[in-house]
Amino acid sequence: MALRESGREEINSMSAQQVHDLTEYKDVWVFTEIKDHEEVHDTALEILSKAREIADKLDQQLVAIVLALEAEQYLETIKDYGVDKIIYISHPNLKHYHERIFTSLVYDLIKEYKPSVFLFPSTEAGNSLAARIAYRCRTGLVSDVLDLELSDEHGKNLLLTDKPAYGGNIHVKIICPHARPQMCTITGGTFIKKKSRKSSIEVIKKEYTFDDRNIKIKIIGTPTRKDKPTATLSDARFVIGGGHGLSTKENFEKLFELARFTNGKVGGTRRPIIEGWMSEHLQIGISGESINCDLYIAFGISGAIQHVVGITRSKTIVAINKDPNCALFKVADYCIVADATDILEGLLKYYKVD
Ligand SMILES: Cc1cc2nc3c(=O)[nH]c(=O)nc-3n(C[C@H](O)[C@H](O)[C@H](O)COP(=O)(O)OP(=O)(O)OC[C@H]3O[C@@H](n4cnc5c(N)ncnc54)[C@H](O)[C@@H]3O)c2cc1C
Repeated sequence: MALRESGREEINSMSAQQVHDLTEYKDVWVFTEIKDHEEVHDTALEILSKAREIADKLDQQLVAIVLALEAEQYLETIKDYGVDKIIYISHPNLKHYHERIFTSLVYDLIKEYKPSVFLFPSTEAGNSLAARIAYRCRTGLVSDVLDLELSDEHGKNLLLTDKPAYGGNIHVKIICPHARPQMCTITGGTFIKKKSRKSSIEVIKKEYTFDDRNIKIKIIGTPTRKDKPTATLSDARFVIGGGHGLSTKENFEKLFELARFTNGKVGGTRRPIIEGWMSEHLQIGISGESINCDLYIAFGISGAIQHVVGITRSKTIVAINKDPNCALFKVADYCIVADATDILEGLLKYYKVD
């Protein structure tokens, strides 16, 4: 087995099959990210819940990897999500995600313990770290997967990941048969948090071994958006979604007016962000938030898979579109073929009169 040390050399022509002895790898790891050095990232807890199922089927251990400032404070929360083991490093230099430090420390852990599966939240830090680790390990990485299962079709107990490709026109299933760990990133809201606690949980504290002389950039803070929402869309009971079909910023702003009357929250597709009608943190979908509301009303949204994956947990979906064949109608509970702006104006008129 020869995982090579440096992350800088060119990928050589040797196939991964010759490099990795798969029998040496076991256990399911989750990069249990700490959000804003304040709390365990919800997405990490969701992934732990799903990873528990995978670990059970493999009859292997579920291991949470935690790197943080004063990491001990997060361990009790993590223990509630089915872990068999927590491996953590606590150090002031781990307050913010630093790509060189995190990559080096996590890679050292992989060399020592050799996990078979390694899952990451699809966050800025998770995506950056996963890509760097995959490169160093000479293994594959699937980003933003929608589902995970085990398959024996191309080898025993391979992780089968499901993700949209080619603009969402097809779903692809991807396996990583010859290299380890099998890695992927997962968007928030893809899986549901499920509490369970093992009667015995091993906790291992590892030393911070990074040579600080290699730090070229010191991170003194991370930017926080002025308009950072206090409550996210994923907590909202009623969500009003807007798409490109609303045609203008002026029309789109009427959604916020409707939200004020109805105590709803506005979200939308990527298109209104591109148009400058809505800020980025309101995007719903694979690269935004997943919602879990009682009612979702979509105004002028086509139903691209990247959006739909973020709304499927809504209890009731109402879609308003002037195209009777739009894709969103296939997943909606109620389909209204109409001009979305007319309906929006009608609703506002109703509330204003009241
Ligand atoms: C890697 C990647 C990640 C992505 N991530 C996301 C994501 O997280 N979330 C996301 O939303 N998108 C995402 N996208 C973009 C996604 O593919 C679609 O382009 C986007 O969702 C389309 O937005 P839309 O439905 O508002 O616009 P359009 O596709 O332009 O659809 C507009 C709809 O409005 C209807 N319409 C037009 N006029 C009216 C009217 N007057 N009344 C009623 N209906 C009308 C049309 O019939 C049409 O169905 C991603 C794309 C890629 C490649």
